[in-house]
Amino acid sequence: MAWRSHGATNQELVENLAKNGLIKSASVKQAMIRVDRAHYAPSEPYDDRPQSIGHRATISAPHMHASACESLLTYLKPGAKVLDIGSGSGYLTHVLAELIKPNGVVIGVDHIQALVDMANHNMAKSTEGRELLRSGSVQFVKADGRKGYPEGTPYDAIHVGAAAAEHHQALVDQLKAPGRLFVPVEEDYEQHIYVIDKKEDGSVERKKLYGVRYVPLTDAPS
Ligand code: SAH
Repeated sequence: MAWRSHGATNQELVENLAKNGLIKSASVKQAMIRVDRAHYAPSEPYDDRPQSIGHRATISAPHMHASACESLLTYLKPGAKVLDIGSGSGYLTHVLAELIKPNGVVIGVDHIQALVDMANHNMAKSTEGRELLRSGSVQFVKADGRKGYPEGTPYDAIHVGAAAAEHHQALVDQLKAPGRLFVPVEEDYEQHIYVIDKKEDGSVERKKLYGVRYVPLTDAPS
């Protein structure tokens, strides 16, 4: 049912994603309704498809953002600490921040300064976004996400919005126990979503889910 959820408004897009079973929970639905995708996507913001945002980056399709939030939802409690690697447009960072209100913190990491600036700019388009930035509930930083972001550790949830060439142990190390990592990984020219759980006793369980196409998690352009 992916790709069939276009809407004329943000509300309609989100309602269609829910109708098509791509959004399952009321909290993800509410969070996505509260964040206007038009503040983050350059054109046709209510289409269910990825779009270029420049700098070889894309804003992912709404159904992928929905799927990431649904997968991480158990760990997105009020006050949670979340890392969003490859934050790009800043859209998902904002949705994640809505899901962990009050007192939650999301750090959005991107390795391109222009995209860090774009995410800050996009977020400042709404009163709620400006408040999240002012209070420090959302912070965008420039860093190499393959190393995670040690300054904010440990995290209840880590989302990676670009395809990793390998399983980066640093990301698992920076999870709380319990905590969850959502990451696309490329193996043999194919990308799959992995959901990696660090359990309370520190043991790690890795689940391979569906095939995807993400921008690669790479070296910063020189
Ligand atoms: N979640 C974003 C996805 C943007 S595309 C959105 O939906 O808007 C993937 C992003 O990953 C790009 O912005 C790219 O600059 C970033 N990226 C790629 N490699 C990276 C790295 N090593 N560290 C941090 N960010 C990286």
